[in-house]
Parts: sequence; C-alpha cells; structure tokens
Amino acid sequence: MSETVWRLSGDLSMEKSLKLEAANEQLADTYGIFPPTLSYFEQRQTPLWRVELFFAGEVDQNYLKDLLKAADLNDWPYELEALPDQDWVSESQKLLHPVEAGRFYVHGSHDEDKAGDDIINLTVDAGQAFGTGQHETTWGCLKLLDGMEQFKPARILDLGTGSGVLAMGAHRLWKDSNILATDIDPIAVEVTRENLKLNKCDLRRVGDTDAGAGVAALTADGFGDSAFRIEGPFELVIANILAGPLVQLAPDIDRFTTHGGKVMLSGLLVTQEKEVSDAYIAQGMKLAERLENGEWLALLFEKP
Ligand code: SAH
Repeated sequence: MSETVWRLSGDLSMEKSLKLEAANEQLADTYGIFPPTLSYFEQRQTPLWRVELFFAGEVDQNYLKDLLKAADLNDWPYELEALPDQDWVSESQKLLHPVEAGRFYVHGSHDEDKAGDDIINLTVDAGQAFGTGQHETTWGCLKLLDGMEQFKPARILDLGTGSGVLAMGAHRLWKDSNILATDIDPIAVEVTRENLKLNKCDLRRVGDTDAGAGVAALTADGFGDSAFRIEGPFELVIANILAGPLVQLAPDIDRFTTHGGKVMLSGLLVTQEKEVSDAYIAQGMKLAERLENGEWLALLFEKP
C-alpha cells in the first residue's frame, strides 16, 4: 500500500513563493532529507501564486514549523489535507487523456501514436510544467498553428513554453525554422529539453542560429536576456501566458516581431479580449484571427 500524501497549499506573492522554495531546499539539506516536493503556479485571476507542498506520509511538524519560520510565513493561512490515494489516480489519469487539435495529437508516453499521414504526434507527460494540450489555451494555439501552413516563419519564439508543447508543434510544421522556447521557470525549461529529446526534435544551442534549424530552450523573464537580440527578430511570436503580462509585454513583443510577422496570443479570457487587443493594436498590429474555446481565447495578430 502506498503512503498517504499530505498537501499543504495556499496563495503567496511570487517573491514569497520563491523564498519558500529556497527555504525548503536549504532546510531539507540541514535535516539531511529530500525536500518535500514544492510546486507553484500562476493563477488566472489573481497576481498571487498557488503554492503546494507535498509530504509523503506524516507531516514532520518540526520541519514545517522551521520551514515557515525560515520563509517568514508564520501567519500564512495555509491548508493542509490528506489526499486519498484514489484521487491521485483519477487526477493523473484525467490529465493524461490524448488531445486532438487539428492535425496535432498530443498524448502521454503510455499512449500509442495515432496512425495517419497527416497526423502530427506529440508526446507530453503530465508533470511539472504546464501544457499537455488539455488546457483550452494550449488547444487554441495548436489549432491556430495547424491552420498556418502557408506561412513560412524562419525564426519563431515560444514565450512561456511550459512543457515545450507549442515549440514542438511549430518544429513539426516548420522543420527549417530556428525556434527559441523560453520560460521564466527553470523547471519548465528542463522539462522542455526532456520533451524535445523524447519527441526527437532537433536541438540547438541558444544563440547558435547558424548550426542548422531546431529548437533552443532558455530560462528568461520576458525578454530579459541578451539572447533575444541574437535569436530575433521573429517572424512568429507565440505567447500563451496571461492577460496582464501580455499587455505589459506588448511593446517588447512588437520590437522582436518582424514586419509581415505574426503574433499568437493566448492565456486570456474572452472577457479580457479588449484590454489585450488594444495593447497590440496600439503597436500598429492588426487582428487576423480569433478562436474561442469555452471562456478562453486565442488571438492571432499581424504586424504590417
Ligand atoms: N506554452 C505552454 C505553456 C503555457 S503556461 C502551453 O501553451 O501549454 C504559461 C507559461 O508561461 C508558464 O510555464 C510560465 O512559467 C511562463 N511564464 C509566465 N510569465 C512569464 C514571463 N514573463 N516570461 C516567460 N515565461 C513566463
């Protein structure tokens, strides 16, 4: 029988989340144990991150007390709950259903590839990075990519690559393109590199744009890395992030997009369309396509 897993969860600012993560690693080192698994993710409607810490078996109360103290979180209103084994299984299986978006077929490694000449198989396991094709926004971007065959972008940026799913999808469509896949989260970049290997994509070093086409992965916050100047400007920028950062990043995204280039945006709700659209129209871009999926939206802009 497997051990019960306890989950501690709560909302924290980005800075506090990172502080807790660092404290968890340091303290585990002092205790001489493996650190409890910590994950955090941005939330769609609040700037606070959702943080989860998983303990296998009983929670060591001394550890927890020391951890919260080290991270200055003595008054943090967290929740602690035991996860029934059953839930784990159904949750993980739910995450692992294959997804179809146009020609793309995204599935876990335990599923077979789908046969067919026009099928583009992508293997992505549910794990530590966002993007198994399950989410409406990932699906929307894949679907838009699927309809862009006539377009031949030489350089592509996938900003906020998560699991690397969109970068890999673009690589399958445009074998000769140089693709840069970036994420603010180093774990996502690691996961992307693993997925690139798993999917036998051509890997490239960042900045090495002459060594043949392929995908390079980089940890970066927005455009905060000199590599963008070497890799860009891009004929296609894909950014499935969140409405807030999409608005903030509009000038940078514009600067790194070629004239005649396209910008694919997702991660926004239908209700956030105007604020996001306005930011890109203000840069002189024109809306070319929009795709709703439930309450989520994917937009495609063109830069004249
Ligand atoms: N492209 C994937 C993942 C989308 S989730 C997909 O479509 O499924 C959004 C990703 O953007 C997360 O992995 C998050 O870490 C990353 N992200 C958020 N803000 C960012 C920023 N300012 N710069 C780069 N990446 C960012």
